[in-house]
Amino acid sequence: MNAACLCGDVRIAISGKVGPLVYCHCRRCQKASGTAFSANVDVRRTYWTFVAGEALVRELPSMPGVFRAFCLRCGSPLYSRRDTNPDVLRLRLGLLEADPERRSLAQCWVRSKAPWFDLTDDLPQYSEGPEGPKETGSRQYGEPGTREPMLRGSCLCGTVRYEVRGTPLGMYYCHCGTCQKASGSSFATNIIVAATDLAVVSGRKQLTGYESSPHKRRYFCSGCGSPIYSHAEKTRDVVSVRCGTLDDDPGLRPTEHIFVASKTPWYQITDDLPQRPAGFV
Ligand SMILES: [Zn+2]
Ligand SMILES: [Zn+2]
Ligand SMILES: [Zn+2]
Repeated sequence: MNAACLCGDVRIAISGKVGPLVYCHCRRCQKASGTAFSANVDVRRTYWTFVAGEALVRELPSMPGVFRAFCLRCGSPLYSRRDTNPDVLRLRLGLLEADPERRSLAQCWVRSKAPWFDLTDDLPQYSEGPEGPKETGSRQYGEPGTREPMLRGSCLCGTVRYEVRGTPLGMYYCHCGTCQKASGSSFATNIIVAATDLAVVSGRKQLTGYESSPHKRRYFCSGCGSPIYSHAEKTRDVVSVRCGTLDDDPGLRPTEHIFVASKTPWYQITDDLPQRPAGFV
């Protein structure tokens, strides 16, 4: 099986079976992917070969003894690794170019789940990791509607900080192939914001644009890889902000799934939202 980042410069060949698939809703995974959760499988190092682009792989410490890697050119999250488990790399499944023939076993870290993402499947839910206690009882979130009319967001390393100084115009899930690679996960979750309402208040120099399709740039933090927003010439008045980097509840909720024709085989949509095969008309 092959895996590659969004720009295609980092290419990985995987020569053996991958481990179980798990979705992680921890805040770090939300920030690193820009979406609701990361989708990960463990791969033994003996099965893992960098076919190209190893020099573009940047690892950063995420917690003591835990490292996250991303592509310096396009920002795609690639894998994480732990000093305590040196024989394994945890691949971000959105990079995979084949069906891993694994389906998710669990939703992990649901106690820090994004308030805008509803769990509607039957998977077991763990408050923290699978080794921790199972989630029971209700979860608490901020009440939408009580927030100030401004949203804040930041990247995983905290250098890039932004504010949305106006009401978002919409919120949606995107299952296109580029969003899978850019998030390393199954889909992107975006709010649409008037371009004049987005203010990058710190780390602007660290914000790097990658032209993922003609006249469309995806901006990520070059220090940690977090996807922040995209901007296309065709729709120049608006930007799409990656909701996993939001630090506040946007109040609104996703209203549809787009590009479901290119959805990953390993993710099942279990909510009732409308599904469009391609993009907005
Ligand atoms: Zn890349
Ligand atoms: Zn950063
Ligand atoms: Zn997309």
